[in-house]
Amino acid sequence: MIPALDPQAVLEPQYRDYLGALKGAGFQGEVETRYGHRLSLATDNSVYQMLPQGVLFPLDGDDIQLALRLAQNPEFRQLTFSARGGGTGTNGQSLNRGIIIDTSRHMRGVVSIDAERRQAVVQCGVIKDALNDELRPHGLFFSPDLSTSNRATLGGMINTDASGAGSLVYGKTSDHVIAIRAILDDGSELITGPWDQAARNALKGRARELAESVVALCQEKQGLIEARFPKLNRFLTGYDLKHVYNPDTDILDLTRLLCGSEGTLAFVVEATLDLTPIPDTRVLVNIQYDSFDSALRHAPELVDAHATVVETIDATVLNLAREDVSWHTVADLVEPEDAEQAHRFDGINMVEFAGEADEVEGKLIALLARLDSGDNGAVLGYKVCRDGGSIGRVYAMRKKAVGLLANAKGPRKPLAFVEDTAVPPEKLADFIAEFRALLDAEGLQYGMFGHVDAGVLHVRPALDLCDPADERQLKVLSDKVAELTRQYGGLMWGEHGRGVRSEYGPAVFGELFEDLRRIKGWFDPDNRLNPGKICTPLDSDDELYPVESPTRGAFNRRISPQSREEYERAIRCNGNGLCFNYQIDSPMCPSYKASGDRVESPKGRAELYRAWLRLLAREGVDLSQYPPRRAPLWQRVRNQFSQETDFSHEVHQGMLSCLACKACSGACPVKVDIPTLRAEFLHHYYGRYLRPLKDHFVANLEDSLPLQARFPKLVNSLSQNRASQWLLKTLVGYVDPPALSVPTLTERVGQHQPSTLPELERRLARASSEERRHMVLLVQDPFNSHYDAALVEAGLKLLARLGFEPLLVPYLPNGKPQHIKGFLDRFRRTARNSAAALNRLAAYKVPMVGLDPALVLTYSDEYVTILKEERGDFEVEVLQSFLARHLDRWTPRPQSGHHYRLMGHCTENSVRPSGATEWQQVLGHFGAELKTVNLGCCGMAGTFGHEVANLERSRQLFDMSWAPELAKEEGEPLSSGYSCRSQVKRFGLKGLRHPLQVLLELIEGD
Ligand SMILES: Cc1cc2nc3c(=O)[nH]c(=O)nc-3n(C[C@H](O)[C@H](O)[C@H](O)COP(=O)(O)OP(=O)(O)OC[C@H]3O[C@@H](n4cnc5c(N)ncnc54)[C@H](O)[C@@H]3O)c2cc1C
Ligand code: SF4
Ligand code: SF4
Repeated sequence: MIPALDPQAVLEPQYRDYLGALKGAGFQGEVETRYGHRLSLATDNSVYQMLPQGVLFPLDGDDIQLALRLAQNPEFRQLTFSARGGGTGTNGQSLNRGIIIDTSRHMRGVVSIDAERRQAVVQCGVIKDALNDELRPHGLFFSPDLSTSNRATLGGMINTDASGAGSLVYGKTSDHVIAIRAILDDGSELITGPWDQAARNALKGRARELAESVVALCQEKQGLIEARFPKLNRFLTGYDLKHVYNPDTDILDLTRLLCGSEGTLAFVVEATLDLTPIPDTRVLVNIQYDSFDSALRHAPELVDAHATVVETIDATVLNLAREDVSWHTVADLVEPEDAEQAHRFDGINMVEFAGEADEVEGKLIALLARLDSGDNGAVLGYKVCRDGGSIGRVYAMRKKAVGLLANAKGPRKPLAFVEDTAVPPEKLADFIAEFRALLDAEGLQYGMFGHVDAGVLHVRPALDLCDPADERQLKVLSDKVAELTRQYGGLMWGEHGRGVRSEYGPAVFGELFEDLRRIKGWFDPDNRLNPGKICTPLDSDDELYPVESPTRGAFNRRISPQSREEYERAIRCNGNGLCFNYQIDSPMCPSYKASGDRVESPKGRAELYRAWLRLLAREGVDLSQYPPRRAPLWQRVRNQFSQETDFSHEVHQGMLSCLACKACSGACPVKVDIPTLRAEFLHHYYGRYLRPLKDHFVANLEDSLPLQARFPKLVNSLSQNRASQWLLKTLVGYVDPPALSVPTLTERVGQHQPSTLPELERRLARASSEERRHMVLLVQDPFNSHYDAALVEAGLKLLARLGFEPLLVPYLPNGKPQHIKGFLDRFRRTARNSAAALNRLAAYKVPMVGLDPALVLTYSDEYVTILKEERGDFEVEVLQSFLARHLDRWTPRPQSGHHYRLMGHCTENSVRPSGATEWQQVLGHFGAELKTVNLGCCGMAGTFGHEVANLERSRQLFDMSWAPELAKEEGEPLSSGYSCRSQVKRFGLKGLRHPLQVLLELIEGD
């Protein structure tokens, strides 16, 4: 059995006392000191890892004020504070070792929108896309864009001065912040805005002191500032001395200092933003090239064509995108159709025009004429996207690019450390040629893409930071790239901020760096706000974090190479935060969406897992070599009731709320796969502790169902009455058990179907190869076969009506419930038996189909993981995939006027998103229109929603996305998932049909 694990992460006494005193002082939000919670904020998308002492989740600005005021007490004067928003920084900006104030949980509101003045006031934790959702009905948007727009907060954007695609036209965040309400280190409030001399005279206290000091500095150093600040669109982020004071108008605006200051000057609580009208028309032209260099060299001409956006992607990134589940949604918008050209396709520029329709059309016609002229031999062709949906899909693919890069095979992973260089755009191609030479000379792999219109390039060289040699190389390369950018008149930090790369500041700013330190000292004299970043106060001996600060790799190094490989699903999380997507219609990640707790996200769970492996390694346990042994019952009982500290309990807690929906394993760009990790964890955890009864109940379900189905009426009478349901709830912790189908499946299909596997095999063996060409094997799943037998019967009927001879494969347990609960030994046995049977059947070369997506996908996922080669090569596909491949057998039917909506299954949508499109094709072929609706998880997820402990969460998730969609009157809603249908049914709404039932109805209606 695994040992108990003590993280030994005791709080420093003054932090412990402070955090203890905070609640008593009236702090309304949450205070968190558990190791797992501290860990979940110990990383961002950078290479670094720093464990904070504690985390605060303030309810509002008053809470932040209170927290900082309390910290003024002499006994707490050593404490430091760092703000955190989405935690998507790429350079460790939000990481620190003091207290983290996370504003993303509660402070995410839009305070007011003034559409007439095109302004909005927002709280700092609002997510950029969520803000734009609220602005859309007003025809407005917050225009600075960034790839992480579905999880990055305005506070984070302001403090990194974020920008992205379209920055030449739409500008950076600082160009759109009108005023900021901030809290200073002593808890006093600062409200910024444009101040002339009269306004400055009216200021009091700290605000006045700050204003006077900054004006004096700017007046004195004007010449130096002009000379020293790079003349770039992305000149740098933070402490913007160039724009904070305008000597011509004598206006001072401290907003410009705070923007990009990475939380080192003040806490931003609210901001007044300037909004932009949503353009009338948008057109995107995807131009294909024979090389990345050709794409780069063509970019200046595209910028001259007055494009709003010019983005570029190289072949490495394109190839990774091709392997992503979402590629099928953009392939025809991006790739050349001609096979020869597709072969030469090695780079792309994405050119957007936005504005008034006539103006856009004019620019488009001019560009296409130039492209069609054939002047540029490197241009292979182009694709034009005119509708918002297509444009959105291409941008979504581009926004995923960074994450996709991280999907590289092997221990070396693309890392953020020199990834946002900016040089004058006209020098970009030459700069990149040198940059590439530098990386090639080191033999490193990398992919490149970027905002060529602004001269910003994103490069993530692949290194393995578990290898000390690669760790040293990170510093060497950083230095070289910083120098190279300077030679080209550019900057190393052109877009994503400085963070733990601040040590290059003195070289960039020269003597002005001392003035930055002066400013820091005026705002934060004791260096308590996000210390170690950007600069330290002039009179302080504190140091900046060096580039060689401890990395995640250095922590992972403590885990054996074998375990790192075996548990790569956890190790490879790079913290890009895609799993914090706020959109309720995205499948990722239901447990995080419901709780708002980062620990209950794929990232949080991966973090727990890595720490767990690390702590086990410290105890001498290398999990990859460790035979999972279950302690004898008496020992498990003793462990269960022992008061011993064990970090495994925190991991357990984090894993329990996971629905095992698999959205992470499909939609995470690097395929962090929590359900697989979770199963393995539970397997070990319950080797040490007692399992709850409900786990046994769930794991035995599949095996017990055939027996129950022999006496369905009796079982139903026992299970469907109040007394037994109360007992089940109280003793087992299980609620709302569904009723068995009556008549049962056997009764429905009668004597026509083989009742045993040998019988089926005999039938297959007897059939001629011609007869077999018409046969289809329907593989049963436990839930549809026993609780929705009518559906299985309809499936057989449908296949028969379509001209096949359907044969029902006698019931084989699938094992998924055992896997979910971490009964891995039993799951292995179940999978081995079922795989053996299915492999025997596969030998007859008759297609095998299944009806429930989640259970069918288990054969190609969990079976592979547990059985490896032993799994064999049998294939079971979802019914619609089989039907879609055979559509040419049936004459297409005219539109019948029937409209349906397919309520997407979250596992299928994430892991195999083409499933919904296939149903659309199939029903469309037979004359019905099917709209596919993307939804989050319905909250049932197998048996998750049946567990008492999860009931409230299950309902919450259902109410979030499914209930509002079901309330619409837009065509009959359909669902292919058994769990989803039973969830809808138990919450008292109309029962949903499976799309196959509709298809059968359409066919039988003839
Ligand atoms: C895959 C990927 C793609 C990216 N693409 C882009 C891009 O296109 N353009 C771009 O500009 N950036 C990009 N980034 C970087 C990152 O997303 C941005 O810097 C973003 O603005 C950070 O926002 P956040 O809410 O995650 O902030 P965090 O990472 O939480 O914090 C960033 C900084 O802001 C400070 N901060 C946060 N909230 C406050 C507050 N209320 N008061 C004071 N300080 C605060 C933090 O202390 C920290 O210093 C990308 C990152 C990733 C992972
Ligand atoms: S789990 Fe995946 S999506 Fe979430 S932060 Fe890690 S890598 Fe990104
Ligand atoms: S399986 Fe679902 S609930 Fe669990 S971590 Fe992944 S996305 Fe979240």
